[in-house]
Amino acid sequence: TPGTVLITGTTSGVGLNATCALVKRGWTVITANRSPQRAAAAADDMDLPKERLQHVLMDLGDLDSVRRAVDALPDRLDAVVCNAAVYKPKLKQPERSPQGYEISMATNHLGHFLLVQLLLGRLQNSSHPSRRVVILGTVTANSKELGGKIPIPAPADLGDLSGFEAGFKYPVAMASGKPFKPGKAYKDSKLCNMISTQELHRRLHGESGITFTSLYPGCVADTPLFRNTPKAFQTIFPWFQKNITGGYVSQALAGERVADVVAHPDFAESGVHWSWGNRQKKDGQQFSQELSDKATDPDTARRVWDLSMQLVGL
Ligand code: NDP
Repeated sequence: TPGTVLITGTTSGVGLNATCALVKRGWTVITANRSPQRAAAAADDMDLPKERLQHVLMDLGDLDSVRRAVDALPDRLDAVVCNAAVYKPKLKQPERSPQGYEISMATNHLGHFLLVQLLLGRLQNSSHPSRRVVILGTVTANSKELGGKIPIPAPADLGDLSGFEAGFKYPVAMASGKPFKPGKAYKDSKLCNMISTQELHRRLHGESGITFTSLYPGCVADTPLFRNTPKAFQTIFPWFQKNITGGYVSQALAGERVADVVAHPDFAESGVHWSWGNRQKKDGQQFSQELSDKATDPDTARRVWDLSMQLVGL
C-alpha cells in the first residue's frame, strides 16, 4: 500500500535514488534537506512528478531546525528514512554544530535521534498496515563483518561513553572522550544509528507496532559522500569495490533496496539489520545481518539512549 514517507538527505546518492524508487512505487515523498531548493532541482533532474513530492527545510545538524521542520509536517506519516549524513575525514579540528556538538555525531546521530522521537506520534496516527522507521547503517561500523574490522583510522568504538557523558561539547569531540579522529567520528555516529535502531525496537516496537530496521545497501562507492576524501581515493575506491571486494552497488540499486525496506512486505520484521548477499547482482537476496556486540549490547544501548535524550533536550 503506497503511503507518505519522509526521507532525509535527498540532494544526491542513496536518498535521491530511494526517493525516485518510492515515487515510482506510488508513494508520496516528503524530502528533508538543508536546501529544499537543491532537493527540488535534483528530483527534477530525475524527472520525478512534482505533485508527489514536498520539500521541507531541515538541517539535521541543528536541533532547532529539526524541531521547526517537524512542527510544520502533516500529523500523519507512514514511514521515515534516516539517510542524511556527513563524512569529513580530512578535518584537522572538530567542526561544531550550532548546539556545539561534533558535526558528524550531531548530523548523523543526534539530529535523527531527535527526529524519530518527534515523529513517533505521527507514525502512530497512520493507519498504514506496516509503519516503518528505516535507518542507514554501514558495514564499517559493524565489527561482525570484514569491512568493520579495518583499523583505518580506527574501528567504531564508543569506549566508556565518557565523551557522551561530558556532553560532547568543546573540548570533547568523541563519544569515548579520546582525541579527535575525523574518520572514526563518522563510524561512531553510524554505530549510534544502528544502536538506536535496536533500542527503538526493544523499547517501542511492542507497544507501537512500528517496524524499526537498519540496513547496509552495499558499498555505493561513487556518491558525493566521499567528496571530502583525497582525489586519488575517489578514483581508486570505486574501482577497488567493483573489482576486488565485489562490494560495489550502483546508486539506483541502493535506492531500490531502501525502497524495499520501506515498502516491501518481505521487510516487515522489526529489529532487523538488512544486508544483501551477492551485493552487485540485481537479484541478490536480502538477509538479516548479525551485528557486533558493540551494536547490540543492551547496557550500552540504554546509556546511549538516555544520554542522547539529554543531548537533544528531551
Ligand atoms: P551523499 O553525500 O550522496 O548524501 C548525503 C545526503 O545527506 C545529501 O543529500 C546531503 O545534502 C544530506 N545532508 C548532509 N548534511 C545534512 C544536514 N546537515 N541536513 C540535512 N541533510 C544533510 O551520501 P550517500 O548517499 O552515500 O549516503 C547516504 C546514507 O547512506 C548515509 O547515511 C551513509 O552513511 C549511508 N551509507 C552510504 C554508503 C556508501 O557507500 N555511500 C554505504 C553505507 C551507508 P547536502 O547536499 O546538503 O550536503
